[in-house]
Amino acid sequence: MMKTAVKTRFAPSPSGLLHLGNMRTALFNALLARRTQGLFLLRIEDTDQERSTEDYIEALLKDLCWLGLEWQEGPGIKGEFSPYRQSQRDAIYQDYFQQLEAKGLAYPCFCSQEELERIRKQQLAAGQPPRYLGTCARLTFEEVENKLAGGLKPALRFRIPSIAVVEFEDLVRGSQHFTARDIGDFIIRRADETPAFFFSNAIDDALMGITHVLRGEDHLTNTPRQILLLQSLGLPVPCYGHIAMIVGSDGTPLSKRHGSRSISELREAGYLPSAIYNYLARLGHHYENTSFLDLDGLAAQFNLDRLGKAPARFDSQQLYYWQREALAHSDFETLRQWLGSAVADQVPTDKYLEFIEIIRPNVVLPEDALRWAEALFGENLAFKDEALGVISQAGSDFFAAALAAVGHHGVDFKVVITQLKQTTNAKGKSLFLPLRAALTGNLDGPELALLFSLMGVTRVRQRLQRCLDL
Ligand code: GLU
Repeated sequence: MMKTAVKTRFAPSPSGLLHLGNMRTALFNALLARRTQGLFLLRIEDTDQERSTEDYIEALLKDLCWLGLEWQEGPGIKGEFSPYRQSQRDAIYQDYFQQLEAKGLAYPCFCSQEELERIRKQQLAAGQPPRYLGTCARLTFEEVENKLAGGLKPALRFRIPSIAVVEFEDLVRGSQHFTARDIGDFIIRRADETPAFFFSNAIDDALMGITHVLRGEDHLTNTPRQILLLQSLGLPVPCYGHIAMIVGSDGTPLSKRHGSRSISELREAGYLPSAIYNYLARLGHHYENTSFLDLDGLAAQFNLDRLGKAPARFDSQQLYYWQREALAHSDFETLRQWLGSAVADQVPTDKYLEFIEIIRPNVVLPEDALRWAEALFGENLAFKDEALGVISQAGSDFFAAALAAVGHHGVDFKVVITQLKQTTNAKGKSLFLPLRAALTGNLDGPELALLFSLMGVTRVRQRLQRCLDL
């Protein structure tokens, strides 16, 4: 028998910008498809017309492409199952509503929001799971006709078989068991005629041939309903896996408060796509390989068994770490573009390549590179307080000797240091720190020998002279 190829999907609702949480969902689905040589599909779940906007759709397409998560089926690609925007698939959903009604598996519900809310509160207060009591399930044909004639607009509810038991093997969380009592008859079409999110979501997964759904655990309670719906319509049921949430340092769901930003904000701040996907792939998925990997490398070792059940904690330090790794693995052209003209304008053209190589280990974001460009080549070097302290402690004799050594030997670092050692008797920190402070205004940074050659003899002399004059 031929094995069905794996087909995963990302199904965002375009009611906001993509953030780390939903991008991680997209990434896991894309990695699973890539590892199995399957397909990764993109579907836009824009049935909520009030909250969905074209701008958000455009932004999410851009974010996915920027991260390298191209879809093989979806918007912009003529696919077998198009359209891939739910707002254009209404006729399909209506057809399935009719099928359920015809089978007696759905009924109109006229209960008002207030009434439902009142019952819900009572149930919660009594320690019962909130579920629909079935008021409208018992309406006679005439009662329904009368209500409709009176102009009432009903929602459509799915009738759960009273003996229903839904069991499924969650790809992440293992065996799951739900009974009809846990679920209760649920709304599949709202009174304003729009389909409930999980209805169109399940129908589309089935029609589009999705085999594996990886999504946030907040959707776990939707799954038994979706399975019941698909089974009653004779549609195929995908395998579901519910991924543990991302939380902040205090254990609550990740938000702005924890320093989380949207993908577009991270891009604008200068994070590289490979930093983001190396970090996200390891947030809730265990990789034995701790080295920097490209998407193929991450996909090759992606394994559903390695998805954690416990919430994954966001840590901005980890993101910095992967950003440094991404920079270490980037070629010159990528870095040149990443830094942009603001940095290039500060650095002499013939020194640019050398500059990038030297500061690379000392930067995380372009703003750090800009600071280094200003520190090494700017006209008005700003000294940090601790650097000024070191300079004054070294004293003018030290800088006079340093100037003399550079006068004799140029930027031949080794020889300059040997001479300076001899003339001042300074060694270790008291030899190197004042030089570093004089050259950069800082007490840490790239290797001094490299800075000497990068800055060149004229600039090194000017900076030493300035300290002598201080
Ligand atoms: N549109 C849903 C969301 O953005 C998709 C849920 C799912 O992946 O099934 O949350």
